[in-house]
Amino acid sequence: MRSPKDMEIIQIDITNACPHTCSNCTRFCGHHKKPFFMDFDTFKNAVDSLSEFPNMVGIIGGEPTLHPEFEKFVNYLRDSRIGVNKRYKILREPISNMLRYILTNLQNVNSKLGLWSSLNEGYYKHFELINDSFPAQYLNDHDNVCRHQALLMPRKELGISDEEWLTKRDACWVQNTWSATITPKGAFFCEVAGSLDMLFDGPGGWKVEPGWWKREVKDFADQLPWCELCSGCLDVPQRISNDERDDMTPEIFETLKSIGSPKIKRGKFVVHNPKTFDKTQYHTFTGENDYMAVAGNVRTTTKNRNYYPKEFIHVTFADVREISKDNQAKDWVIVSEDVERAKKIFTVLKDMVINPGCIFVAQDALIFNVRAMSLRKYFDAREALPENFWDCYPPDKIVSINI
Ligand code: SF4
Ligand code: SF4
Repeated sequence: MRSPKDMEIIQIDITNACPHTCSNCTRFCGHHKKPFFMDFDTFKNAVDSLSEFPNMVGIIGGEPTLHPEFEKFVNYLRDSRIGVNKRYKILREPISNMLRYILTNLQNVNSKLGLWSSLNEGYYKHFELINDSFPAQYLNDHDNVCRHQALLMPRKELGISDEEWLTKRDACWVQNTWSATITPKGAFFCEVAGSLDMLFDGPGGWKVEPGWWKREVKDFADQLPWCELCSGCLDVPQRISNDERDDMTPEIFETLKSIGSPKIKRGKFVVHNPKTFDKTQYHTFTGENDYMAVAGNVRTTTKNRNYYPKEFIHVTFADVREISKDNQAKDWVIVSEDVERAKKIFTVLKDMVINPGCIFVAQDALIFNVRAMSLRKYFDAREALPENFWDCYPPDKIVSINI
């Protein structure tokens, strides 16, 4: 185990709402009757408590982009002492291979701000903000062969001796390679411990105050009982994430049933009989390998259309300024004098990942998104766009393209 001060990342869990219910989720999504959404004051306090943490602060869920105040949270984090009001210029050009882009450009482990997302609709909604703000993005749509290790098979039910347990617990790959976290209930030495506290209505974590993350391993005693409920460090099954079933032991099954877990009601579980459980069949991850490594680091494919353009409409240059006056346009606008030309642009761009915050300038056409922050005030007020409305965009968001 290690102190949070020695971690590469400390997370802030802003919600456990998620469109997925992956098997063996570290946040136990699917087992909660109602998701939590961290309130802004708690978030502010969490960010402020980490202002002197020298490494990355991550925003995670669940699916953090589903938080109703996601934009407010990100703006606060970015303008804080951690984010130092820095804007990034990520994903400006149209991308044809998102996976390659992620692996080449977004795995910046030395960055100060990181986002974890399953690339759902919320990512598209906040696309511009995210790519202005997060130099590190750990994106995984979970529609791949990543494997999640069973977390709900406590060592006592599996008959693991104290001696073996202490060695394994202290070498837990999750705590040694992942993160400490802050949930609405406090700060935790391990992100899974924070989730267990949320799932099983625990007493909450440490007070979130400046420097809480400097605690040493000797200070973890009050939180170590969560390890007793957790199989993160044990040789237990791993299951493909979109199988959705959770592996568990009989006592945990009964506990989850008693708290009304929706996932149990849906039959998304596999109960293992401790008498016949053969731990030699399984091997815990080590940190050298983990969920993504066994999936070959394939985080998304073109099958996931969540972050692709949804809709294009065509208008002429004469009509474009009026487009902000009604609510008709929802996504992309192609401004061109020629319908056939607009169709050609549509054919090319519909299969590319393009940042709604940018305006794309082709030789005889403009392509922009009605949700661009640069134009927001006109659409919100339903006012006509100004003449030369492309001048509203900062220079890095005016992108020339050859189509
Ligand atoms: S995407 Fe899957 S693993 Fe990630 S939080 Fe959602 S349910 Fe859990
Ligand atoms: S055993 Fe579970 S709770 Fe304990 S450190 Fe490992 S992952 Fe965290």
